[in-house]
Amino acid sequence: RASSAYVTFEPGARTAWHTHPLGQALIITAGVGRVQVQGGPIQEVRPGDTVWFPPYVKHWHGAAPGVAMTHISVAEEEGGNNVEWLEKVTEEQYTGIRAVVPKGRIVRGNALCVPCVGNTENICSVYMFPVILAVGCHKSSLKEE
Ligand code: MN
Repeated sequence: RASSAYVTFEPGARTAWHTHPLGQALIITAGVGRVQVQGGPIQEVRPGDTVWFPPYVKHWHGAAPGVAMTHISVAEEEGGNNVEWLEKVTEEQYTGIRAVVPKGRIVRGNALCVPCVGNTENICSVYMFPVILAVGCHKSSLKEE
């Protein structure tokens, strides 16, 4: 009752959120990928890495933004099904944007969100995958002169 699949994700491609009734094992064979369990951090995976998703643990897996990823997946069926598909993974979820905070605030965790300069009202977006990739300032509102 086990089935196996050899799957390649193009750069940026990923599954929807889903669960497996009897769990799933992944063996990464090429490229760079991302996996995430609901409520957990996005994790980067590379060839040789193995990942186990326990039964009914909601998760997604796919390629990194600029690199394809290939994995072998192994999952057992229960009642003829080995997967239940849920909602799509949003761009924010995929890119790992964790928080948007008022300027000058400390982001929970290990990132400091620095105040943005300028005379506009600012917010500061922190991209925390896999470490801090970028801290960007964005105009949250523009005043028409
Ligand atoms: Mn899966």
